[in-house]
Amino acid sequence: MRFAAVCLGTLALGVATPATAQGVLNVYCSVQVEWCTLIANEFQKATGTKVSITQKGSGETIAQLKAEAQNPKGDVWFGGTGDPHLQAAEENLTEVYKSPRLGELHPWAVKQNTDSGGKTVGIYAGALGFGFNTELLAKKGVKAPACWADLLKPELKGEIQVANPNSSGTAYVAIATLVQLMGEEKAFDFLKKMHANVNAYTRSGTAPMKAVARGETAVSISFVHDGVTEALAGFPVKTATPCEGTGYEIGSMSIVKGARNLANAKKFYDWALTPEAQKLGAQAKQFQVPSNKATPLPPEAPKFADMKLIDYDQAKYGKSAERKRLIARWDKEVGALPKP
Ligand code: PLP
Repeated sequence: MRFAAVCLGTLALGVATPATAQGVLNVYCSVQVEWCTLIANEFQKATGTKVSITQKGSGETIAQLKAEAQNPKGDVWFGGTGDPHLQAAEENLTEVYKSPRLGELHPWAVKQNTDSGGKTVGIYAGALGFGFNTELLAKKGVKAPACWADLLKPELKGEIQVANPNSSGTAYVAIATLVQLMGEEKAFDFLKKMHANVNAYTRSGTAPMKAVARGETAVSISFVHDGVTEALAGFPVKTATPCEGTGYEIGSMSIVKGARNLANAKKFYDWALTPEAQKLGAQAKQFQVPSNKATPLPPEAPKFADMKLIDYDQAKYGKSAERKRLIARWDKEVGALPKP
């Protein structure tokens, strides 16, 4: 199993525990591990609650919630793309909770709560685009992609990496974005043609950008904030958002239905919506747009104003039947294609 559970006991952390230790909390975490570890550590320091983290992609986490529905083990699901959180709400896998902090959030984060009947909330937003390795592209004499259409060029044969929508919320946002931009038939035509240029459909949505950074692939379809993380780490990575327009995620948070540690789950949820907690994202070098209006926008965060964003229909593409149908169609028509 690639995603080991990280148990952060107070002893292991060596942090002072408040006089009254406040029980435990199991967090399913669908952002990158550095951020997951930091929130666990800081919440534990602030409250004395012992936090255990299980890090998995968005699609993998909803599968786990379903598998555990009769015997829930997680308390809070932190992060990951918004569509599977909406699907979890519809499938009754998560609890209604109206945080007193809702009034502090951007309208797009509150809409996620309204659309789900109070079962999820936006914690950050990030736009979809391309990552590319500038050195690798220069060596191959290939121009960086600027538009979705560029991903079909023969010179990118075997040079594109994107995740698998069964496990990754990022990959599902890419499919739903193309469907909204082109219409479903043209979008699937595009995905089938692009298959000739894809070298791998990875399990995790963040893997393709890491592969770009390491020079294992020239181009990825990724959230562009992940490219900032790699560029700051010194890799020759740049990003672009497609000229035809692009979609975005409303990274979300939900409380697990039947959570065994419900009071702690609510405490964590309220805390995670504070500017103090949301600042930890940038501290962990994750540059999404935070959902609390008072959280400073990290200067490194890609600017939405510079992009051509579509009006991503979260309510439609977060519907359980729609997500299942599009992923099944991808499995049948794209995932099942032989490797070129
Ligand atoms: N990591 C980051 C930084 C993200 O923004 C997201 C999406 O919310 C994810 C991970 C989710 O990954 P996956 O596509 O594997 O579900």
